[in-house]
Amino acid sequence: MKTIGLIGGMSWESTISYYKIINEAVKARLGGLHSAKIILYSVEFDEIERCQSSGDWEKSGSILGGAAQALEAAGADFLLICTNTMHKVAPQIASMVRIPIVHIADATAGELEKSHIRRVGLLGTKYTMTQDFYKQKLTDRGIDVLIPDEADIELVNDVIFHELCVGEINDASREQFRRIIGGLGEKGAEGVILGCTEIGLLIHQADSPLPVFDTTLIHAGRAAEIALDG
Ligand code: GLU
Repeated sequence: MKTIGLIGGMSWESTISYYKIINEAVKARLGGLHSAKIILYSVEFDEIERCQSSGDWEKSGSILGGAAQALEAAGADFLLICTNTMHKVAPQIASMVRIPIVHIADATAGELEKSHIRRVGLLGTKYTMTQDFYKQKLTDRGIDVLIPDEADIELVNDVIFHELCVGEINDASREQFRRIIGGLGEKGAEGVILGCTEIGLLIHQADSPLPVFDTTLIHAGRAAEIALDG
């Protein structure tokens, strides 16, 4: 079994999900007392968020690159960055290590292709929804990406940073997300990407009028497959 290196803490609420999903997947495959080999480097998220809001992505990349190097030195065979947003600096992180990074948008695109989805809604932080680093990975594979309007981009981003990342799950926000997903469906989306690793704490398939693609489940599940099958 390969050893998985997790760059987590962004936020720690969703890193818990990664730990649980990966171990559950290994248990489902191997049974008994089997569990995943995981090394976790959990960063100080406040420091990373300050880099995001001031636009100092280079600094955040160098912090996460340092975490990646520590995981490599500790024996990780491959890495996951446990947040969609910080894949903005995935190339910088990748340039600092020799081991591979499993890109969350590639894993998600693979699942969309399996479901023959050609047009998809994307919910995530404002960085993920409005910038190209993430959407480009999908459009490169021929998948159209729809995002909410400006006011709803702000709403989704606020719920992520002021509720989900601090462990608050609110029914009123779930209703808003349901409305926004419905609107993306009306514009032609055949599914919706929960493109922030905390959204799965709020929205499950039963809450959504469209098929959901939960990036935390997909990314963590892919890690378990690679650890077991190479
Ligand atoms: N976990 C989130 C994501 O998947 C947001 C936190 C962050 O900005 O990294 O994008």
